[in-house]
Amino acid sequence: MEFSRHGVMLVIASPSGAGKSSITRRLLADQNNLTMSVSVTTRKMREGEVEGIDYYFVDMAKFEAMREQGKLLEWAKVHSNYYGTPAAGVDQLIASGKDVVFDIDYQGTQQLYEKRRAEMVSIFLLPPSILELRQRLISRALDSKEVIDKRLQNARIEIDHWAEYDYVLVNDDLDETCDQVTKILETARVARTRQTDLSKFIKGLQSQIDSL
Ligand code: 5GP
Repeated sequence: MEFSRHGVMLVIASPSGAGKSSITRRLLADQNNLTMSVSVTTRKMREGEVEGIDYYFVDMAKFEAMREQGKLLEWAKVHSNYYGTPAAGVDQLIASGKDVVFDIDYQGTQQLYEKRRAEMVSIFLLPPSILELRQRLISRALDSKEVIDKRLQNARIEIDHWAEYDYVLVNDDLDETCDQVTKILETARVARTRQTDLSKFIKGLQSQIDSL
């Protein structure tokens, strides 16, 4: 039996290279009801990235205008670039029972906690070791050595925030981590506070008792 409900705002954060993108991709492929929140960024588009799918790529002037006009639910500077979550659409999706996954850093997560704590479930992914993390960053061959070094330094700061998340998972097996994330999402969906028709159902049960 299913009740109508609010969607889950699922935040998945990790230092880059800990498997967040692979897990999010799988989750989106498996879960019909799940949508990705597409951020805006001032970062240059990488090879293979698609406008509107991976990010909305904007210049600094456009980013600042969106921020000033309150069009961003949260924003942060990460690795010398700016990133932000457009507010448009997210609240409608959540109210209509659609789940939304956010790939944002700890600064963005903190801002979402301030604004939408009741709607959120947050997961922090850790790599099994820093050696493994470095290897993953090198083998995906997306960044120069300097960028990789910067990402590793940033990983230190990011990891510092582990205790701010609802769940912390060590991603040493992609399948297993995906299963765990799926279970967390499924559990969040049935949280009492998200079930909008529950009180009506309870009243119905009570009136059935009364009429016995
Ligand atoms: P990348 O440049 O590798 O795509 O992303 C770098 C980092 O920026 C990742 O850790 C990602 O989680 C974070 N990020 C991406 N979009 C947003 C956003 O909208 N807000 C915040 N706060 N962080 C973001």
